[in-house]
Amino acid sequence: MPELPEVETVRRGLNSLVKGRTITNVEIYYDKIIIGSVADFQHQLVGAKILDIGRRAKYLLFHFDNNLTMISHLRMEGKYQVRASKADFDKHVHIVFHLDDGKFLGYRDVRKFGKMQLVPTTEELQGKAIAALGPEPLTPEYTLAALQQGLQRRKKSIKATLLDQHVVSGLGNIYVDEVLWRAQIHPEEPANKVTEQQVAALYPIINDEIKTAIAAGGTTVRSYVDATGHEGTFQLQLHVYNQEGHPCERCGTIIKKIKVAGRGTHFCPQCQTLNP
Ligand SMILES: [Zn+2]
Repeated sequence: MPELPEVETVRRGLNSLVKGRTITNVEIYYDKIIIGSVADFQHQLVGAKILDIGRRAKYLLFHFDNNLTMISHLRMEGKYQVRASKADFDKHVHIVFHLDDGKFLGYRDVRKFGKMQLVPTTEELQGKAIAALGPEPLTPEYTLAALQQGLQRRKKSIKATLLDQHVVSGLGNIYVDEVLWRAQIHPEEPANKVTEQQVAALYPIINDEIKTAIAAGGTTVRSYVDATGHEGTFQLQLHVYNQEGHPCERCGTIIKKIKVAGRGTHFCPQCQTLNP
């Protein structure tokens, strides 16, 4: 699943490829990707110019010059491709935007879980899902105090808490495992039992993790590729994710994989222990 760094990489790729282009036609082969009226979606986008592609957490925000914004959630495997010919798309491309430079922007989604929705610009952050998102790493809203307060109020595991996006948004399964290993916090530690020192360690690590992952173009696990077709390289910097059976880089203990919050979770049983 693309996480924040991958979506940010896609956003940058899209801005370099399609920003400023006007949509001349929209073909939709799988209606369920569109939230709301498919006919309206098509009708409203033809003639619209892409002013900019923004992002909130894992949602891409295509801002158009007709005061509409398209919220695009890639979910499991959605991705964008820009091609010179429609014939270059395979059967998994479900939506094709024709661009005024003669190229085509395709939305490819093997599992078809992704969603797109057109909303009036300025309302794009007000939908239920996006409004509930916590502050995002590397923004002024993400502060040590906000992280501390958010964790104090929650009794479920730190892993589940970081995954649910309310305290801090943008961390998915891979990055939660990585930041908890770096901060030496057991993934099953109840969020409100994480010590002040541990939160103080965790806070800058979350920023650093996201910053480093964005700089590396995201992590390539399974099928993720950015809009320009380049694979991310962050998987080369993973310390604990997918490392079960390998020795911990810090202490040599074998990394374990368990289930926490229903997700495969990797940790070092020696340097990530539950607090007394
Ligand atoms: Zn260790």
